[in-house]
Amino acid sequence: MRIGFIGAGSMASAIARGAVGAGLDGSEMLFTDAHGVHAPALAEATGGTVAASNADLVLRSDYVVLAVKPHLQTPVIEQIRQAVTDHMGVCVLSIAAGRTLTAMESDLGAPVPLARAMPNVNAQIGQSMTGFCVNERVTDAQVADIRTLLDSVGRSIAIDEADFPVFSALAGCSPAWVFEIIDGLARAGVKHGLRKQQAVAIAAQALVGSATLVLEAAGKEVTPGQLIDQVTSPGGTTIAGLLAAEEAGLSTSLVKAVDAAVARDRELC
Ligand code: NAD
Repeated sequence: MRIGFIGAGSMASAIARGAVGAGLDGSEMLFTDAHGVHAPALAEATGGTVAASNADLVLRSDYVVLAVKPHLQTPVIEQIRQAVTDHMGVCVLSIAAGRTLTAMESDLGAPVPLARAMPNVNAQIGQSMTGFCVNERVTDAQVADIRTLLDSVGRSIAIDEADFPVFSALAGCSPAWVFEIIDGLARAGVKHGLRKQQAVAIAAQALVGSATLVLEAAGKEVTPGQLIDQVTSPGGTTIAGLLAAEEAGLSTSLVKAVDAAVARDRELC
């Protein structure tokens, strides 16, 4: 599949490099950017090509990934509208936060196969949790190709567009909150005598292991609550710490973080 990336910044770079790393053909990739700096670098890294313009890229692609900042999407669609109409069947995939399929359909003003995806920062290391939805013009074969592309940088999941705000909070925003949790644990380690770098490595590895265990346990229908029960010995240190964390509002603070992110997402859409 020929994939054109409009925008060659951090997310386009993560997806294109991840896709090539996962075996997709980089020589089929096309790139543009605003300043002619990142697109050539990404083309060189992937074995792809720099397109002459955004319209040229559309005409030469099966899939067009709109990887520009959300506020630039409308002007970019303006530049490619004619090419999209001329190249019927080309599928446009937006990764812009807060840009709905309806908004893109309205910008394009033509019946076009459209998809919307929300990757996260972990795409850089092939560990994104990416949600996506499509409009009714996207074929099953195109959905399969979109999954192949998104799975190349982690895991993808089809979700209802109405669930994008909560998905974005749980998968898109949560890395920042997890970084804060790691930093908080590391600060506690420093308080008790560890070096910061050492404390960060310990906390981060504990989270990686715990998250992996949760995913494996889910396959056996074991819940995080059951894992908590397994690791809290009667009268032990873990239950003492857990109750102190709950008294300080650990789970309530996470629910409030999701509430705030969902509310902000709805304001921006
Ligand atoms: P970025 O600033 O790193 O890259 C944006 C790119 O768009 C740049 O290469 C810029 O040159 C290019 N660009 C701007 N105007 C252009 C034009 N007219 N034609 C062609 N290229 C143009 O941004 P990013 O972090 O890669 O984000 C890109 C999109 O991905 C955003 O819509 C963002 O919401 C979404 N996204 C990013 C992340 C993330 O973690 N970075 C996560 C999820 C979604």
